[in-house]
Amino acid sequence: MRILITMRIAVISDIHGNLEALTAVLKRLRKEHADTIVCLGDIVGYGPFPNECIEIVHEQCDIVIRGNHDAGAEDGVPLETFDPDGRIAMEWTRKQLSEIHRKFLLELPLIDTNSHGITYVHASPADPERWARISTWHDAAEMFPHFTNNACCVGHTHIPAVVASNGMVNDYQRGERHVINAGSVGQPRDGDPRASFALLDTKHDAVSIIRVEYSVASTVSATRKAGLPEFLAKRLELGI
Ligand code: ZN
Repeated sequence: MRILITMRIAVISDIHGNLEALTAVLKRLRKEHADTIVCLGDIVGYGPFPNECIEIVHEQCDIVIRGNHDAGAEDGVPLETFDPDGRIAMEWTRKQLSEIHRKFLLELPLIDTNSHGITYVHASPADPERWARISTWHDAAEMFPHFTNNACCVGHTHIPAVVASNGMVNDYQRGERHVINAGSVGQPRDGDPRASFALLDTKHDAVSIIRVEYSVASTVSATRKAGLPEFLAKRLELGI
C-alpha cells in the first residue's frame, strides 16, 4: 500500500442513525488501538438516532466524508431519489435534525485524497456526487484509474469487500492497489447483521474487515418506537 505514516486506521461507514451499533464499534476500536477514525458518511437516514450519531462522529472521527443520506438530510439530494422507505425515513430525519447538526452535514467534503496516502469517498471516486454503487468486481476494477493513491476506501453498498488491482477479491494483496469497502456499521446488507468496519494497519501492511455484535433488538425497538417503516426494523435482524 506504501502509505507514508505508520498507523492503525479505522474506517467506518453507513451508520444510519444506529446508535447501538456505533457505540459497539467505537468500543471495539478502543480495544483495537485505532490511531485514527475515518467516517465515510451516511451518518443519518433510516435509523432512529440521527442527532446522537452526528454528535459522536463529530467528536470522535478525525475525517468525515459526506454520504448521500447526509446530503439528503440537508436538502442536497432530492427525496425522489430514495426508495419509499428511505424517503419516509429521510422526511422524518429532516424533522429531527438540530440546526447545528444540519450545518455539520452541510459542510462535509465529498472526498478526501490527501490524508494517510488513501482516497476516502462515500460512493465512488469517479464522480462522488453521482452516488454510483461499486457493487461488483467489475465496478471496482473500473475505479482504479479514478484515484491516484494506492488505496481507495468506500462505503455506500453496505457490503464489505477488499478488491485488489490484480483481480483478487477479499484477500489483501501486498504491493497491489486496492478498493476497500468498509461495509456498514448501522445497516449491514450482506446477510450478517453484525456491524462492519475496516481496519487498515499500515505498519504491517494489512487490511481486515471486522464484525461486531451489538444489540440489534434495541435498535429494532427504537426504530418501531420512532414510527419509522417496519422494513427498516426487520432488515436489521436479517442483515439485508
Ligand atoms: Zn448508506
